[in-house]
Amino acid sequence: MPEPSTETRAVSNGTGVSSNAGNGQRNALNDFVHPMGVEAYRKTAKDLIDWICDYYARVESLPVRSEAEPGYLPPMLPTEAPDAPESADAVLSDIQSKIMPGLTHWQSPNFFAYFPANSSFPAMLGDMLSGALSVMGFLWSGSPAATELETVVLDWLAKLLNLPACFLAFGPDMKLGKGGGIIQGTASETVLVALLAAQARAMASRPAEDRQYLVCYSSDQAHSSIKKACMVAGTPHCRLIPARPELDYALDPDDLTAAIDADLAAGLIPFYLVGTIGTTSSCAVDPIAKLGAIARRHDMWFHIDAAFAGVTAMLPEMQHYFQGLELADSFNTNAHKWLLTNFDCSCMWVQDADPLKAALSLTPAFLRAKGNAYDYKDWQIPLGRRFRSLKLFFMLRMYGKQKLQEYLRHHIALGDLVADLVRHDSRFEIVTPPRFALTCFCLKAQTGKETAALVDAVNRSGKAFMITTELSGRCVARFAIGGAQTQERHIRAAWQLISQLADKVLAETEGARP
Ligand SMILES: *Cc1c(COP(=O)(O)O)cnc(C)c1O
Repeated sequence: MPEPSTETRAVSNGTGVSSNAGNGQRNALNDFVHPMGVEAYRKTAKDLIDWICDYYARVESLPVRSEAEPGYLPPMLPTEAPDAPESADAVLSDIQSKIMPGLTHWQSPNFFAYFPANSSFPAMLGDMLSGALSVMGFLWSGSPAATELETVVLDWLAKLLNLPACFLAFGPDMKLGKGGGIIQGTASETVLVALLAAQARAMASRPAEDRQYLVCYSSDQAHSSIKKACMVAGTPHCRLIPARPELDYALDPDDLTAAIDADLAAGLIPFYLVGTIGTTSSCAVDPIAKLGAIARRHDMWFHIDAAFAGVTAMLPEMQHYFQGLELADSFNTNAHKWLLTNFDCSCMWVQDADPLKAALSLTPAFLRAKGNAYDYKDWQIPLGRRFRSLKLFFMLRMYGKQKLQEYLRHHIALGDLVADLVRHDSRFEIVTPPRFALTCFCLKAQTGKETAALVDAVNRSGKAFMITTELSGRCVARFAIGGAQTQERHIRAAWQLISQLADKVLAETEGARP
């Protein structure tokens, strides 16, 4: 066998491009040399961090919403991946010229659309480390720290959020109990996983053919992932009960009871109820304690979806929204929305993981992890899982409870400021009481199209980005605060913009009248 040449031994020639490219004579058994070696990575990665820091410094000045047209990108890129290695510089130059124009800047302090998708530098450190370590945490033994850190930080977060002790993994004796927390990818995944657990629990004592009688319930303001979960799981009946406008779009427990009674009379089986704390449209809050009591009465799995607003459970002044959590079987909030943790990090807690495992574990009981640790593959749909708890570990330690509370209160105060600005402008009205830093408002009724035109004008300006929703058939503007970089000056500038554009929109609709 020929000696490897000095060239093949070199990890990197500094350009990031292998000098062996094109050497068709090499024996496939020779050492494989990667185009980017460790020293080239060390340098390029540091340059990329500089680029990222510069991006964060200037993101405020970029148009918030991308104005790219559908299909803008393919004509700018080759139709095939390259044959030979390209340099990192070549890739980064395309990022700058071709990818950046197609970005909507979710980290802009002028982003008020949807809900925020927070990032923070501590969480980014954890994310970088997770990507680099690249361990698979599906089994405890796959990487013990990946599993155990997740269990620990979710207990930390549960305590921070004042969740009832029944959701903690560890008892006072530091022994694992029946439940605890897991990081799922998204709140939507969590809704599905909880539904599967609910189904496993309901069907454990029933003949298989009863599956066709299962009924799931939520309000019609609950997240679309509930309907999708029913589609995926093949749940035959999904009742989306109209929320009550007079209850600020919450589910009326009497309406729920009536629906359940009708279904029971028809021989159906209520098995799954989703209550929402902070609906996506208007941040409505369902009466959790009352819904929980109904779920208990009918032996239904009660899941609480608090994807956005759940993190406010760490604030004493918000406790009234969270009464009755101990009646829930599962609770979910997304650290990747408003809690400074980069996507994806959807935190789910269950009181009892056994139904989850019954639904999702293929492992025979005799192979299950023994001792004081979980195998998280049995609590989720995929097998593989990233070391996501590192993001939370960095973030929770480097902020601490006091800073996190201050952060949420800062946004809630900014939300109150928006509500005040709307209230003091006679052209506008508030549609639902502002909650959790979300304000829903509209231009006072003209043709009903003005609010949509206003939001469209705001977004086209590039200076702010918000979306509309529909409440009782009306188009409503949603101003959602929670961006990690958003300060008072951004709110005041956005309101000034909204106010000026409102004049224009109203003048145009006046002019358009016969
Ligand atoms: C955002 C949201 C979801 C969906 O969150 P994903 O993590 O993107 O799936 C579900 N429910 C509510 C109430 C939400 O606000």
